[in-house]
Amino acid sequence: MPHAVTLIPGDGTGPEITEATRRVLEATGVAFEWEVRQAGAEMLEKYGTILPDDVIDSIKRTRVGLKGPITTPAGKGLRSANVTLRKKLDLYANLRPAKTYPGLRSRYENIDLIIVRENTEDLYAGIEFQRGTAEYEDVLETIARTTGNRLDPNSALSIKFISVMATRRIVRFAFEYARINNRRKVTAVHKANIMRLSDGLFLATANEVAKEYPDIQYEDRIVDNMCMQLVQKPECYDILVLPNLYGDIISDLSAGLIGGLGVAPGANIGNDYAVFEPVHGSAPKYARQNKVNPMAMMFSGVMMLRHLREKDAALRLEKALMHIIAEGKYVTYDLKPRADDPTAVGTSQVADAVIERMRHV
Ligand code: NAD
Repeated sequence: MPHAVTLIPGDGTGPEITEATRRVLEATGVAFEWEVRQAGAEMLEKYGTILPDDVIDSIKRTRVGLKGPITTPAGKGLRSANVTLRKKLDLYANLRPAKTYPGLRSRYENIDLIIVRENTEDLYAGIEFQRGTAEYEDVLETIARTTGNRLDPNSALSIKFISVMATRRIVRFAFEYARINNRRKVTAVHKANIMRLSDGLFLATANEVAKEYPDIQYEDRIVDNMCMQLVQKPECYDILVLPNLYGDIISDLSAGLIGGLGVAPGANIGNDYAVFEPVHGSAPKYARQNKVNPMAMMFSGVMMLRHLREKDAALRLEKALMHIIAEGKYVTYDLKPRADDPTAVGTSQVADAVIERMRHV
């Protein structure tokens, strides 16, 4: 039986890397039945939304999605299609491994971190108030009455929202992942010394959940200190569990540790559905140039194959990618010593090389 998968090419460089990834996945020999669904800025004119309902309907049917990046036009008041997708499908865990492979140009060796980012709450919950609106005046009034702080009305407000339920399930996810994958330690990352209530709740809940897992080491770190420690001694860390915003920032930092966004994969996982996508965005300035690295999405494809229990295919694709990286020949500009290296190949040539390599592994 072929695996039904919703394929969302996205926009910007999304369609190019999605096509390259689809080709390598099919070359593993696993059969797929792709339901291609469009989302992104171009859908806005046609359907009045960047995330049409048929995308969600399709994933509800197939239960698995593979997604290219989608642009969120900044400052236009539009909600991100990515955030909306994660919320609508309750994909509460954003799993982002950061692993160095031989041949990657990084200042570090032997990085093997797992970032577990909460995906539904925090400043990403979408609870925001625009200055000048009646709702905003109401909120300012309530804040003045309850706290004595009269805020400048020429301002805007985004609410940081953290619940016990969402924290419990994301921390449990991190510990369960540790158990299943034989990992040694979970570190909860927060800023509870300053945001005593929201991050305080995150930390207190994480401490409580950790007691259920005495077989796994547990510790916590303040997020600013965590950034420095990751740069100075990343080898001391294993699985990091974080609220949404810190998780987003730390996963880009971790991508930097392993050689860049071009190789950093991700998965959005909930109880019922899973959507796999690279950490990076749509890199619109490179769109339609056959230039950017498709490997982050291909590694996301490896994660998807494992999720579909296609372990042999996952291993073969991962090995082929590792070989191409180590060889350093058929790689895009970002994996070359210099970005203007004339021997860099394009997106589709990486796919050709990976497919060719898979014939030998
Ligand atoms: P970006 O990740 O798209 O690109 C930043 C830079 O990283 C690029 O200019 C490029 O130099 C490099 N880069 C990214 N992907 C690469 C690849 N595959 N190969 C080689 N180099 C790569 O970040 P941005 O410019 O901040 O965001 C662009 C748009 O993407 C924004 O609208 C943002 O909201 C959106 N975005 C979407 C997602 C998603 O779909 N999940 C994630 C992040 C950002």
